[in-house]
Amino acid sequence: MGSILRTRRRGILFVISGPSGVGKGTLRERLLARESQLVYSISATTRLPRPGERHGREYFFVSQAEFERLIREHQLLEWAFVYGNYYGTPRPFVLETLARGQDVLLEIDIQGAMQIKRRFPQGVFVFIMPPSMPELARRLAARGQDPPETIARRLAQYEEEIGHVKDYEYMVVNDQLECAVDELMAIVTAERCRVSRWMEEGDDSGTAFDEPPDEGQ
Ligand code: 5GP
Repeated sequence: MGSILRTRRRGILFVISGPSGVGKGTLRERLLARESQLVYSISATTRLPRPGERHGREYFFVSQAEFERLIREHQLLEWAFVYGNYYGTPRPFVLETLARGQDVLLEIDIQGAMQIKRRFPQGVFVFIMPPSMPELARRLAARGQDPPETIARRLAQYEEEIGHVKDYEYMVVNDQLECAVDELMAIVTAERCRVSRWMEEGDDSGTAFDEPPDEGQ
């Protein structure tokens, strides 16, 4: 066998997304706490920091002009306009981390996930599903971070967003938090065991990101 298998595999890109308020952020934190070999990619955004958020920890908080420069200079793997602000994934960090053989986690919106999937289908795309609409409305309100009109806008988008689940390989229903984290862990573990990830000629050579990115949304 020897030569058909790599001794080290390339990193796997895990993308979790789903409607806003579905608990993606909490799930991501729990997953990272339990899975130390997964590296989180911190996004850039033009939104203002919320109380307690710090530049370089939750996000890279940048001006609109700086964000536009990042787009122009192809520094973002994907970017999207989400609820009035720009968000984007820094390209160099993700590519370098994957090339080192480390697995990367993105937690991004659906538009961004679909941009990544078009150019990097060997990524692993997980849709986080809320248990129900009333529960989602309750979670958004309980978060207390957004004005009522923002919450109403997010709920209206939700119905449309849920239809995108068909474009994902995996779905995790965020009903019981610990169960959902267990399911995410199971997905991560299974993907690491895929033979194709270890083949010399496997499908994970991952050069699609070297091309200039699509235009964002
Ligand atoms: P928040 O402002 O509440 O932290 O995030 C708002 C939304 O933006 C969430 O759905 C989050 O997943 C998404 N988001 C965060 N970072 C990125 C990113 O880099 N790209 C895209 N497309 N969406 C992002």
